[in-house]
Amino acid sequence: MRILLVDDSATMRRIQKNQLAGMGITDVVEAENGQDALSKLADNMPLDFILLDWNMPIMDGYTFLTNVRSIADYKDVKIVMCTSESEKPKVLEALKAGANNYIVKPFTPEAMKEKLGI
Ligand SMILES: [Mg+2]
Repeated sequence: MRILLVDDSATMRRIQKNQLAGMGITDVVEAENGQDALSKLADNMPLDFILLDWNMPIMDGYTFLTNVRSIADYKDVKIVMCTSESEKPKVLEALKAGANNYIVKPFTPEAMKEKLGI
């Protein structure tokens, strides 16, 4: 299982990567903003899930989301928004734009498994 982890915080990416590793998921591609993530998708990389932060410089999660859903290969890829408590009101907007689910940071491996349905 391959996951694309998009977050501008290197610390948050490290925490999430550790949690995913604890769940046995070690095939994790990191991106630091939406534009970086899009460039990684440009190679038609096979992918199972995207974990997506909202607030990021250069290209935010919302813009990335709308872009991904317009790419035929990725229109059905599962996208889980990772939000902070304060960003929670934006979740509805994300779901309308095509996100499949959301999780509030910091999350437990159990919560992540549930959201990913694994
Ligand atoms: Mg952020």
